[in-house]
Amino acid sequence: MKILIVEDEEALAKGLKFNFEQEGFEVEMSGDGASALALFDSADPPFDLLILDLMLPGMSGYETCRELRKRDPFVAVLVLSARTLSEDRTMAFDCGADQYMSKPFALPELISRVKSLLERRRALRPAESDAGNAQTPPTVTFGDHVRVDFDRFEVTVGDETTELTRMEMQLLRYFIEHADRVLSRSRIMNDVWADSGAMSNRSIDNFVMRLRRLIEPNPSEPRHILSVRGTGYRFVANPDQAETDNGRADNAATT
Ligand code: CA
Repeated sequence: MKILIVEDEEALAKGLKFNFEQEGFEVEMSGDGASALALFDSADPPFDLLILDLMLPGMSGYETCRELRKRDPFVAVLVLSARTLSEDRTMAFDCGADQYMSKPFALPELISRVKSLLERRRALRPAESDAGNAQTPPTVTFGDHVRVDFDRFEVTVGDETTELTRMEMQLLRYFIEHADRVLSRSRIMNDVWADSGAMSNRSIDNFVMRLRRLIEPNPSEPRHILSVRGTGYRFVANPDQAETDNGRADNAATT
């Protein structure tokens, strides 16, 4: 597994490099966003994960992350920053970060988060060799108007296409793969974002609101992502069809 450390504090970067090499990783370092992207582009084999500082000379970590996501929606990105405000976390996630850790940090925790992130990513990245056996095909259509392209991180409604952030796409994918089931907020948090560290029930609701604005004909009367009072959500792919067995679904919701 190959890691790129993007960090302008050279002593810290070298310390991280040493420790991750001890763990068996191949590690390269870069002190700013532009050179990190250049390294990323020329890497062979490609990097599996980036540890990304936010306050960098020149291009910021946010911008670097956004640029990176255009190149590769799947590579894992862990932001490691002295910024501790929740706005910073939110913005990092919006730029496509998978995980956020504040400095100062405990090295064993960083290492364990990196490992679990890589494991998770391995499960998420569609394997080219068995694309035919993948649980979810690269594109899914539901309702009578929504098309989701998992590879391109795009949702198309009618003739309008919107690019989703990684976390929005992870949540939407989870809903689609668990259609018709009641999903509690804690289960969603655990299954979708267990290792992102900064998520709260409130942020799940915010993500749901954003998805609803994208896929619901009328977001204030959702037909696809339904609220289940006191619990969480239930995704319905084809509401017209589902309405006829509403009774059954509601029963299932209470068990
Ligand atoms: Ca810095």
